Formats: sequence, C-alpha cells, structure tokens
Amino acid sequence: MLEDKNQGKTDLESLGEFGLIEHLTQHFPITQKSTLKGIGDDAAVLNFKGRQTVVSTDLLIEGVHFDLSYMPLKHLGYKAVMVNLSDIYAMNAKATQITVSIAVSNRFPLEALEELYAGIALATKIYDVDLVGGDTTSSTTGLIISITAIGVAIADEIVYRNGAKANDLLVVSGDLGGAYMGLQVLEREKEVFKVNPNNQPDLEPYSYIVERQLKPEARKDIPELLAKLDVHPTSMIDISDGLSSEILHLCKQSKVGCNLFEDKIPLDPTVISACEEFKMDSTLVALSGGEDYELLFTIDQKEFPKIKGNPNLTVVGHMTAENEGAHLISRNNSRIPLTAQGWNSFAKT
Ligand code: ADP
Ligand code: MG
Repeated sequence: MLEDKNQGKTDLESLGEFGLIEHLTQHFPITQKSTLKGIGDDAAVLNFKGRQTVVSTDLLIEGVHFDLSYMPLKHLGYKAVMVNLSDIYAMNAKATQITVSIAVSNRFPLEALEELYAGIALATKIYDVDLVGGDTTSSTTGLIISITAIGVAIADEIVYRNGAKANDLLVVSGDLGGAYMGLQVLEREKEVFKVNPNNQPDLEPYSYIVERQLKPEARKDIPELLAKLDVHPTSMIDISDGLSSEILHLCKQSKVGCNLFEDKIPLDPTVISACEEFKMDSTLVALSGGEDYELLFTIDQKEFPKIKGNPNLTVVGHMTAENEGAHLISRNNSRIPLTAQGWNSFAKT
C-alpha cells in the first residue's frame, strides 16, 4: 500500500516516478482513430491519413500564470487543457490529442496531482481528445505544466492569421472581459481572506465571471458552427491577451488596418456591473483583459447574411487598408489608435 504520512496525504516519493505516471494516467481511454499508440512507449504514434496536422504548446508556471491560493487544482488542470485546445480551434482545426508534462515539488502530495489530473481527464472527455504522453519531473520551487495539443484539418480549411482583406468584417464569438473581472473579484477576496480568514466570501453574484476565470471553455463549437453555416473565415486568432492585441496581430500579419466599434463589443451584464463596482472602464477591460479564449475572425462581407442574428457571433468592426491603421471608434465617434495595451488614450489622429 501507499505510504501514509503528513496529514493522511500520500508523499510522491512513496510511488516513484514510474508508479506516479502509471497512477495518474490509468483512467485515460483512447477514443481517437488517429491514435495508434498512446502512453507507454518512447513516443506516441498518430496517423492522420494525409490530412494536415496542427500542433501548439503552452507553458504554465505557478506564480506567473496561476495562483494556487484561489485556483483549485482540478480547475487548473481543466484550464491548462482549454488554453491549448483554444489554439487548435483558432486554426479552424479539430483537436485530437494532447500531451501533458509536469514538474512538481514534493510539497505536493499525490492527492493534489490526482485533482490536477481529474481536471485534465474531464477536459479530455468533454472535448474528445486523447492523452497520449507527457513527461514527469521534479521541481525545486512551484508547479510547472506544459501541454501540447495536436489537431487535424483538411489543408484548405486551415485558417491562418494572415488572410484578412480590407472590407472584411471582424467577428468575435461569445462575450469579452469576463475572465479579467473574475480575476479582480478573486484577488479582492484573497486580500479580504488574508485580513480575516473567517470571512466567507459570497461569490454568487459573480459566478459567471469567476467561472470565466477559473473554468474557461475553448470554443470547439465555433469551427463546427462555421462549417455548418458554410462560412469561411479569411483569418482567425483566439483571444488570450485581450481583443486589442489580437486585432493588432491580425492586422500586422494580414497587412490591413481595422475599425473596431466600441458600442459593438459584446459584454455580459455581470462584466458591466463588476466594472462599475471596481471603477474600471468596460471597454478597456475587453480590449486588454485577456484569458477570454473566444475566437476572433474575419469574413468576406458576402458571408454576412449567413451569420446575421447568430447569438454566438458579433460583428465588431471591419478591416481597412493597411495605411489607415487600427482604431477604436468610440461611442462619441472619435478615432482612437489601438495599442497592445488596449488603446492609446493620449494619441490623437
Ligand atoms: P521516457 O523515459 O521515454 O521519457 P517516461 O518514463 O517519462 O518515458 O514516460 C513513460 C510514458 O508515460 C510515455 O509514454 C510518456 O509519454 C508518458 N508520460 C510520462 N509522464 C506523463 C504525464 N505526466 N502525463 C501523461 N503521460 C506521461
Ligand atoms: Mg520522460
């Protein structure tokens, strides 16, 4: 039996590296036809039968990308997978496999890693991807998680960042700013807790935005929806760093400009009320907040009737000639240059 010390929790040393890998990965069934060999050999073997493969990796560092004082490990595991799958969907591809690598200090008992893997398992089940490998090593400080996501697409269905044309419409899925405002609520509660650990926070009014921060969902449904509507985006990117920064990526790589209309930016009512409470500008939050994991894409104007009225999609602007630059058109109709930090409120054009 596993050794039982410090508060009934199981020390990682009692399992050894191989015992730990086996224990953490035992409940991951293989469901993809393209997975010929998953965990258990020197490498996984995949076969995509002539279709193109898309690959994306993200690294998450404790204290930089997550804070375990308010991030439950199960949520962290789930979110780490979402962050990666989001990049695959942003290529208009179908995610099929992931690998998960962890570096962990012995301050974590086995039970903590079981929680992390329970979140990873839930994500693989809901999003229908196979866990096919990874690496396990020790860390002298915090927890480090690196996930690689693999996906597949037919060559001419892949959507890059560089295909937007002047006059294309700029479209966003879902709503923005929620994850950032959820983080503000969690940070505030953390400070309150430091002063008075008996204080039980009531997060109920903030449940939508707290969930956007702790348990985001990657938009697997959007490439599926676009295929069903017969819509072919000319460029696409996922919104991890805020709307402004992602628009600038599309503009730079596609060599176009953009007009983004402030009054079109989709905001949930919870985001608007939290912004009022925290005295923050909701437009700035949507532009710079990040971690929304929505998709941002451009379409030819001819395709507009196909998406018109769809509750998942909002037209927020249109692309222009490159020399016109990227601007926010504010509610009072001024043209404000977009910057990677949101907008430059001092610049005048
Ligand atoms: P190697 O010595 O070749 O690096 P390992 O002993 O690290 O092999 O891994 C054995 C198997 O377990 C491999 O298939 C590897 O991909 C998988 N694996 C190792 N660590 C993890 C992990 N944290 N999560 C999922 N799979 C893992
Ligand atoms: Mg290894």
